[in-house]
Amino acid sequence: MIWRTNYLSEIALLVTENQMSALARYAKEDFPNESCALLLGNLVNNEYRVKMTKRMENMAHSKYSFNMDPDELMKAYQWSSANGLNVIGVYHSHLVGSNPSNTDLTFMKINPVIWLIYDVSSSTYNAFLLVQDTLEEIRIEVSKD
Ligand SMILES: [Zn+2]
Repeated sequence: MIWRTNYLSEIALLVTENQMSALARYAKEDFPNESCALLLGNLVNNEYRVKMTKRMENMAHSKYSFNMDPDELMKAYQWSSANGLNVIGVYHSHLVGSNPSNTDLTFMKINPVIWLIYDVSSSTYNAFLLVQDTLEEIRIEVSKD
């Protein structure tokens, strides 16, 4: 596994201030457990453009992991495609640190979308994408709503 954090790729995650504050609010409400959500939107020219966030229940109810309900997940995928959107990212929170855990890395291989991780302790975000076997840190561009 190679870790790359100098934004070599042209890929960017485009989110709005409102979306970011909604995600932080989910983390606050689910605290101290990990919070999780889907990022719905479209991929346009290497830009992952988030149109909305879909809050998901963390079935694990754990401080150290998250687990989405398969039925809720399937419904979210169906709703997205019916509305011209794709699941372009997975969001979850960590109590401390915003790097993917080993478990996260395993699931990133299965689900190769943007992984946005919020560090509750520092209120900061990092986004990652697993490209082949390289973990790329993805630039986050936050715009006004
Ligand atoms: Zn994690």
